Amino acid sequence: MAEKRDYYEVLGLSKGASADEIKKAYRKLAKENHPDLHPGDKACEERFKEINEAYEVLSDDDKRAKYDQYGHAAFDPNAGFGAGGFGGFDGFGGFGDLGDIFGDIFGFGGSTRSNPNAPRKGESVRASVNISFEEAAFGCSKDVSVGRIEDCPDCKGTGCAPGTTAEVCPDCKGSGTVRTTQRTPFGMAQSTGPCGKCRGTGRIIHQPCSKCRGMGKIRRQHKLNVNIPAGIDDGQTISLHGQGSAGANGGPAGDLLVTVIVRPDSRFERDGNSVLLEQEISFSQAALGADIEVPTLDGKVKLTIPEGTQPDTTFRLRGKGIPYLRGQGRGDQFVTVRVNVPRGMSSAQKEALRNYAEAMGEREARSGGIFGRKKK
Ligand SMILES: [Zn+2]
Ligand SMILES: [Zn+2]
Repeated sequence: MAEKRDYYEVLGLSKGASADEIKKAYRKLAKENHPDLHPGDKACEERFKEINEAYEVLSDDDKRAKYDQYGHAAFDPNAGFGAGGFGGFDGFGGFGDLGDIFGDIFGFGGSTRSNPNAPRKGESVRASVNISFEEAAFGCSKDVSVGRIEDCPDCKGTGCAPGTTAEVCPDCKGSGTVRTTQRTPFGMAQSTGPCGKCRGTGRIIHQPCSKCRGMGKIRRQHKLNVNIPAGIDDGQTISLHGQGSAGANGGPAGDLLVTVIVRPDSRFERDGNSVLLEQEISFSQAALGADIEVPTLDGKVKLTIPEGTQPDTTFRLRGKGIPYLRGQGRGDQFVTVRVNVPRGMSSAQKEALRNYAEAMGEREARSGGIFGRKKK
């Protein structure tokens, strides 16, 4: 029996390493030394086994404690720790993380034991669209450019050159995974991993399609017309079922998620389904009352300012707001009036205002200015 290396040393760690450090070191090393990336390299294969074995023990609190105490003897059936020892080393079958790593390497998620030929849903794809305030209020349709993965049009997703077909992998019979049993110093160990011959795909393509290089999928920029419903607000996302990337093995396509960006408007602000507007009126309009015109999403409408309106009074225009995204009706528009104090008046205007001040009993109004000192 060859001298076994210390498990910590195998993973390049010290004895006190945290569970997280162990996991990180393992993932890194297992990736680097994966036999599928170094075909025929026996030393690499041995290293890979060693790394897996070290991780199997160090990632399990119970086994790690025994290893820390007894070293390799803890898992040696001949070491005499009683029948069955501590349960011993139970093979290469139980690596939860291995699936993730193979997923990273081969681009299929999930467990190594999942059938590579099973239908899988395509990825969701994100895009954004920029619209105006009015377009958000009343809805619109926009062309959105989407980068997504589609079935290769040349080979219809098979990855095979036209007129050829793929062969079912003879090593794994199309399952994409192989199970190997090996004699180890701890007994028989079984391992399940992706088939090396077909790289876990279950199929062997002899003449790959030249357009997709045998992948069966290509990345394409696609223009899609998207209907944006009335009432949508900035930052909301529209989900278009089945418009994302193509699925695999007949699985459904993913979704397209379009995030809406609403450009600010120079006049209106939005608060939920309300439209907010600030409107300047003159001092005499506020004091005497007036019918004025204000902009709304539907064009100009008449607003009656009653006599004696105070600055910053807010008026409601019913039904002039944003339509409700789901359902009927619209919000309201709120108009807040800002009372404008006149500047740069002519002498005739000033004279009129002085007469007004006098009529109001404001004897302190100065000839050189307007309302030089305020009453109250
Ligand atoms: Zn193709
Ligand atoms: Zn195979």
